[in-house]
Amino acid sequence: TQGADAARSWGRLNRSGYPMRRPVPAPPGPYPMSRSFRRRTDRKEGLFMIKIAPSILSADFANLERDIRRAESADYLHVDVMDGLFVPNLTIGVPVLQSIRSCTQMFLDVHLMISQPARMIEAFAKAGADLLTVHLEACHPTQIAQCLDLMDQFGVKKGLALRPITSPKALVPYLERLDLALVMTVEPGFGGQAFMESQLDTIREVRVLIDRYNPACELEVDGGVTPKTAPLVVEAG
Ligand code: ZN
Repeated sequence: TQGADAARSWGRLNRSGYPMRRPVPAPPGPYPMSRSFRRRTDRKEGLFMIKIAPSILSADFANLERDIRRAESADYLHVDVMDGLFVPNLTIGVPVLQSIRSCTQMFLDVHLMISQPARMIEAFAKAGADLLTVHLEACHPTQIAQCLDLMDQFGVKKGLALRPITSPKALVPYLERLDLALVMTVEPGFGGQAFMESQLDTIREVRVLIDRYNPACELEVDGGVTPKTAPLVVEAG
């Protein structure tokens, strides 16, 4: 099963049978850890692991390979795909993902900000994505399940994303199947936007749902994450 696989790669299970999360280092910057953050990191069963997934949007596209090398010590490479329809901006597509795949062994976390994503799952999976994330708002709910089926069929991990306006409860019908839930902390569409602090409550709500329905699911936060906002994100869940 998925939990057992994760446990094998992480090496240990906690009492409830889910993988132990690794301890977290102190957050960077002059921002002191709050009491609740300390409590979570001090408690054994509350240990959790932080991963960093720099976005390809921050790269110089004329020097993509050079910039990927610079990001190679990170956990995932986050690839933002925009179609000019689901979001107003256009970024990269399948051929560029293939090129990225050919120059790195990094885990490719591909965030599809595109309408009707089911039609593109096979192409992005074959281009080398390790995980595909589609948006809850990008198609009819029946097609979300179809997207997840296609991700299983083509052997990629399954992610589902929420725009800031979307209620975390909309994740519930799919949560047990997910490897990753993504909370947007900016309105999707452009890099370099300011972090929406109101989304910290959404992160907290998604953490509660994940702990309840699928503790092996990762919680990813996308948009405006900086040394200043990262500790807030970690503390929220
Ligand atoms: Zn993204």
